Amino acid sequence: MSCIFCDIISGKSPAEIIYEDDKVVSFLDVKPIHFGHILVVPKGHYVDFLDIPEDNLLSLIHATRIVAGAIMKGLKPDGYNIFSNNGVAAGQSVFHFHMHITPRYFNDEIKFMLNLKNYKETEMKKFADRIRQEIQ
Ligand code: 5GP
Ligand code: ZN
Repeated sequence: MSCIFCDIISGKSPAEIIYEDDKVVSFLDVKPIHFGHILVVPKGHYVDFLDIPEDNLLSLIHATRIVAGAIMKGLKPDGYNIFSNNGVAAGQSVFHFHMHITPRYFNDEIKFMLNLKNYKETEMKKFADRIRQEIQ
């Protein structure tokens, strides 16, 4: 199975590495939303967020925080987005989990195209119940 992020982690493919520890590596996205857009990636090949073992999560969040702080200090943008696409329908194109961190600027004209819905009277509780019942 070939995976571009596994190749970057193993050193087989080049990347502009920003941060690395025993569980996580972070590098510049080759096609940035803005220059300085960074990916934070677990070293293990986990397909999506739910695939990541619990004991990797703290390292992932820790690295994300360090990198976000460095973007803010180093590039001084007006803000930043942290997001992750999970599944084809959500826009995932590399199936090795990653967190995106991108600088943002006032009036940068980048907008998620949202079509916000309204719950009908009892629908909100119904949706909440369906999700709640899966939480132990
Ligand atoms: P996704 O669409 O899965 O949320 O994000 C995948 C990201 O990986 C994209 O933003 C894409 O630009 C980036 N990417 C894909 N291939 C490479 C690569 O070879 N090197 C780097 N640095 N980034 C890549
Ligand atoms: Zn991989």
